[in-house]
Amino acid sequence: MARYDISLITGDGIGPELAAAAKKILETISDRSSTKFSIREVEAGDAALKKHGKALPDSTVDVVKKSQACLKAPVGESAADVIIVLRRMFDLYANVRPARSYPNIPALSRNVDLVTVRENTEDVYLGWEFNTDEDTVVALRVTSRKASQRIAEYAFKTAEARNGKRKVVAVHKSNVMRKGDGLFASVCKEVAKRHPKIQYSELYVDAASMNLIRNPEEFDVIVTTNLFGDILSDEAAQVVGGLGMGPAANIGEGFALFEPVHGAAFDIAGKNAANPSSILLSAKMMAEWLADKHRDQKIAEEGRRIEDAIIKLLAKNQKTKDIGGALTTTQFADLVAKSMY
Ligand code: ATP
Repeated sequence: MARYDISLITGDGIGPELAAAAKKILETISDRSSTKFSIREVEAGDAALKKHGKALPDSTVDVVKKSQACLKAPVGESAADVIIVLRRMFDLYANVRPARSYPNIPALSRNVDLVTVRENTEDVYLGWEFNTDEDTVVALRVTSRKASQRIAEYAFKTAEARNGKRKVVAVHKSNVMRKGDGLFASVCKEVAKRHPKIQYSELYVDAASMNLIRNPEEFDVIVTTNLFGDILSDEAAQVVGGLGMGPAANIGEGFALFEPVHGAAFDIAGKNAANPSSILLSAKMMAEWLADKHRDQKIAEEGRRIEDAIIKLLAKNQKTKDIGGALTTTQFADLVAKSMY
């Protein structure tokens, strides 16, 4: 019997509703299988800022540090003070965002199975912006060989491990940012030589964003810098049917954090209207990561059950409002739990 300590950040807006759905599914796994989760719910975000004077309270950091993985619901306006700090604290260098076609979802294409591997530690996300005078701001965009190398390696390993088209495309804008993106591109090309079984190509970010709409089925693994990855992965999520289906992982050497790609969606908060698939599929990614780290095939199987149950429900047109259905967040999560075993 394997037991895993999970920290669950409940977040803002639709966050608590999604966190409750995720908790239900993890508890279902604990009840029905030999994989057991100890879940500790913690606060972070706007509500935590109001209550404790800090968007990421020390007590939350303590619990996250003691856990084996973190599942995080979206947070609101203070998102940068939570996720960017956590990414840095745990050196979560790879942001992995799969975009996959599921049945009966209004989408641009029905045949997409791609993953964006986004560099997660540098670029403009260091926040190094300076006023040179009152009316002018200079923002620094940082690119290092070390960070480019490890994200490229991660992308090629992802392409080798998944059952996909065995392709990596590096996305950049080296015709404009000759030094920074030039370095990123040349490192990706070097790393590609160490993975001869994976087909390697490059695209400028403008062409990539166009092709993601025109031929999304052609993509397998996209490796890119932080800001481009942020934008392209939201685009890819939309191509397969919207943010409500989009999971993400922030991976480091020893720790990882899983979260939906979307934000706190205040417009639908408290209405039991959010699609919990994004956090449930994030929980599936967490199960895969734990399986890999602890060589535990059983937890990988429990993770697959989550996605299989979602696919089963969608195939029967049982879905939430955002994708053309009528189910509430709790109804959908309850059905996922029931369909898993
Ligand atoms: P951020 O800037 O933090 O990414 P945002 O305000 O740009 O946030 P999101 O909160 O990511 O936007 O979501 C955009 C819209 O997509 C929401 O207003 C909501 O209507 C819809 N949406 C996002 N996530 C979900 C979900 N899980 N279920 C249903 N609809 C969602």
